[in-house]
Amino acid sequence: MISKPRLKSYQLLAYEALYRKLKKEYKDNEVFLQDYRKYYAGYLGEKRVDYTLSNFREEKIFIIKDLRLKNHNNYFQIDTLLITPYNLVILEIKNFKGELRYDSLQKQFTQNADGKKTVYKDPIQQANTQKRNLAYWLQNFSLNLPIDTLVISSNPATSIHNIQEDPQIYNQFIHSESIHFHLERIFKGYSENRLNYSSQNKLYKLLLSHHQPFTPNLMEYYKIPPDFLISGVPCEKCTDVVMHKRKNKWICPGCKRNSTSAHRQIILDYFLLFKNTITNMECRQLLNISSPRSAYLLIKGMNLKYTGDNRARKYFAPPIESYPQDNGIPFTSNHIFL
Ligand SMILES: [Zn+2]
Repeated sequence: MISKPRLKSYQLLAYEALYRKLKKEYKDNEVFLQDYRKYYAGYLGEKRVDYTLSNFREEKIFIIKDLRLKNHNNYFQIDTLLITPYNLVILEIKNFKGELRYDSLQKQFTQNADGKKTVYKDPIQQANTQKRNLAYWLQNFSLNLPIDTLVISSNPATSIHNIQEDPQIYNQFIHSESIHFHLERIFKGYSENRLNYSSQNKLYKLLLSHHQPFTPNLMEYYKIPPDFLISGVPCEKCTDVVMHKRKNKWICPGCKRNSTSAHRQIILDYFLLFKNTITNMECRQLLNISSPRSAYLLIKGMNLKYTGDNRARKYFAPPIESYPQDNGIPFTSNHIFL
């Protein structure tokens, strides 16, 4: 298996940034937290599937996680894509709890959980749409490869009901524990290898080089007024208390805690919430400091790429790998399934 670890998307990171940035009285907004939970549940489900896949015996598989590509003006996103010697496999991952019912006559997907019935988009049709999108995209490179799809319920406690007992559906909508079985089944259907290792590797790199991650604008999406946000570098312990800069340290006037790196997350959050560049002046406004020299040293310490000189210099947001992964929004564990 060749793959990189799944990272939190810009979307998840932006929600976490906004949570940190909101003043205490605005943090516990139900709409905002509900949206975050939905994306976070999806991310956990995908991680669970990554783990199951990592034990698969077949070694010559390249895996791409969260791939987003563009056909003309339309983007399409694939949760997990396998590039195997025989074919491509799209995994559409759903992290639902309760009872799931699939009606193959109505093409309808219903969830019963917590006494509530919810109808969702048909995930099998969704996966088929991704398949058509990917096949169309590959035509740009004169590539015509077989593509299979699997819809995976990542929550082991979920029950799946195939109402018409449609044999097709048993092979398309599966529990994550049976991924290995179904991949073997799919591979057995191919009598020849379509891609050797080097072509698999080329395709892997080609797809990654065209990946265009989604970067949301949550400030606009939720219409958040600037005065809802904490200005400066808040203390992690004393919410809403802003730390002061003394020489190379940030010191909290409340609990006296000090930090040499508290500005880093604030600058990363700025990239996630506002724009992907920052100037020295914007940095001073963001951190509530007056010295250009201080701001220069703080930014320099983050090793960001830049263009321009002196006052015109703009520093760029770092690659997504540079954002801390363990800085989520705290909430109780019973919320992780949708
Ligand atoms: Zn404090």
